[in-house]
Amino acid sequence: MLVNAAEMLKKAEAGHYGLGAFNTNNMEWTLAILQAAEEAKSPLIIQCTSGAAKWMGGFKMCSAMVNAGMEALGTTVPVALHLDHGSYEACFEAIEAGFTSIMYDGSHEETFQINLDRTKELVEIAHSKGISIEAEVGGIGGTEDGVTSNGELADPNECKQIADLGVDFLACGIGNIHGLYPANWAGLSFERLGEIKALTGDLPLVLHGGTGIPEDQIKKAISLGISKINVNTDLQVVFAAATREYIEAGKDQQGKGYDPRKLLKGGREAIVARTKELMEEFGSVNKA
Ligand SMILES: [Zn+2]
Repeated sequence: MLVNAAEMLKKAEAGHYGLGAFNTNNMEWTLAILQAAEEAKSPLIIQCTSGAAKWMGGFKMCSAMVNAGMEALGTTVPVALHLDHGSYEACFEAIEAGFTSIMYDGSHEETFQINLDRTKELVEIAHSKGISIEAEVGGIGGTEDGVTSNGELADPNECKQIADLGVDFLACGIGNIHGLYPANWAGLSFERLGEIKALTGDLPLVLHGGTGIPEDQIKKAISLGISKINVNTDLQVVFAAATREYIEAGKDQQGKGYDPRKLLKGGREAIVARTKELMEEFGSVNKA
């Protein structure tokens, strides 16, 4: 059975380790991520954007697939199904479809006041249903679901105002961006992270754009209060590389190599291996 993400992130914050929040895109992704969490004995946040949900046939399809996947694999570790970068409307749809955790991304609203008001409303609704909620202050650079922003440093006072609404975890820009990092990237701002942490106390903080941040910076960020690290592009890259290798070796043209179970097997296994590697890096192995 799915749980919300509040308790597992509280434990991570208190225990100074991080939990990966891995984005799913389809059935192969879903099963691979669930398998990795079980093998690593790690609590799991599996998440999905509105765009990925649409690709899969909607939030209900995604929710049903995760639930059925857990049953099929005999999952024993705690798993939360989280909406990644939800609009105000998408939050209601995901809750209706059985998600146990939502992110309301109000960082793109016209004013901070709108972000504040809507976050407040959604905190009340989510908590009345036992669902955890993440909010965002300051845009995360790069592009996700067609929304682009330049990696801001979140305003610590705005973080404090949103934190005080009772959100369960908070995403704040500290120089991180979505997608792959450019060669001239300045790195994470630990100074800003420290300022935000000083005002928000033991609230678990979220690092978006976890792909390609050097391991030493990830570890330092975790030590300074980051508890959830979002991983999407990383798994896409390893899946694509394994699939490309299969095709470039001409294996799809040998025997029944065109069978999707053969064609996608390498990519699926690559996701399992990489997810476990990241769980090791974040420190969540054996924390379930
Ligand atoms: Zn994000």
